Amino acid sequence: MNTGVVYTSGVAPGAPRVVLVTGGSRGIGAATALRCAQQGWDVAVNYARDAQAADAVCAQITALGRRALPVQADVADEAQVLAMFDAVDAALGPLGALVNNAGVVAENQRVADMTVQRLQRMFNTNIVGSFVCAREAVRRMSTVHATEAARRAGGGRGGAIVNLSSKAAVLGAPGWYVDYAASKGAIDTFTVGLAREVALEGIRVNAVRPGIIDTDIHASGGWPDRAHTSSALIPMQRPGRAEEIAAAIVWLLSEDASYTTGAIMDVAGGR
Ligand code: NAP
Repeated sequence: MNTGVVYTSGVAPGAPRVVLVTGGSRGIGAATALRCAQQGWDVAVNYARDAQAADAVCAQITALGRRALPVQADVADEAQVLAMFDAVDAALGPLGALVNNAGVVAENQRVADMTVQRLQRMFNTNIVGSFVCAREAVRRMSTVHATEAARRAGGGRGGAIVNLSSKAAVLGAPGWYVDYAASKGAIDTFTVGLAREVALEGIRVNAVRPGIIDTDIHASGGWPDRAHTSSALIPMQRPGRAEEIAAAIVWLLSEDASYTTGAIMDVAGGR
C-alpha cells in the first residue's frame, strides 16, 4: 500500500564508510575497530597515551585491507579533539560514523570521600568528551546542518553514532563509583536527546550498555580481577568479552539498524 510516507534508511546511501573509534587502542574500542574493518569500514583509532597499542590495532586493520589512522587525543581536551577530527578529515576523508567509546573509571570510593578533581576528570572525560566528539561528528555528517567546509569535503551525507554507556547507569554502583555510574546515566539521556534532535538529519544515535566486561579498565580502577571475581553478580555467571560488545556496536552502525535510533541496548549477560 502506498501511504505516501517516505522511508529513509537513516544512513544515507553512499554515506562515507569512515568511522572514528575513540579509545580504540584496547579493550572494547580495539575489538570494535577490528570488527568495523571486517565490515568494510576505514577506521581512525584514537588513543590517549599508548601509541604502540594503537599502532598494533591499525596494523591489524591494514592487514584486513582497510585504511587505518592512529590518532592521539585526550577526549577531555577540546583543542585535542578538534585537531583529531581535522586529522581524520585530512587522512581518511569524510566521516560516516563515530563510536564514543573512550571512558575512565576510578578506584572504589564512597561519594562522601570524592574530591572535585576526581569528579571533574570523570565527567570531563566520560560526558564532556562524548558531547564534544558527537558535536564534531554531527557538524560533519548532518544532511541539514553540516558545515560548509564539511560539504566541500564531501560530507553532510548522514551517518551513525554509538555511545558507550554502562549497566552501572541503572545500578548506581554504590560503594564502587557512583560518579562513573552517573556519568553513564548522562550518556543514556544524551543518546535519547541527540537521537531525536538529529533524526531528520540522516544521523542515527544509539548506545550500548555493557555489563562487566573482561578488559583492562578494571586494573585502571585498582581491581584487576574484578571481571572474574564479580561473576556471581551476573545471571550468565561470567564476564563478557570485548568482542561481544563490539558485535552490538557494529550492528548499530550498520544499515541493518536503519530504523533503530535513540535505543540503549543492554549487553550484560542478564545483569
Ligand atoms: P579500557 O580497556 O580501559 O580502554 C580504554 C581506552 O580508552 C583505551 O584505548 C585508552 O587509551 C582510551 N582512553 C582512556 N582515556 C582517554 C581519554 N581521556 N581520551 C582518549 N582516549 C582515552 O576500557 P574498556 O573496558 O574497553 O571500556 C570502553 C568503554 O566501555 C568505556 O566507555 C567504559 O566506560 C565502557 N564500559 C566498560 C565496561 C567494562 O566492564 N569493561 C562496562 C561498561 C561500560 P590509552 O590506553 O592510550 O590510555
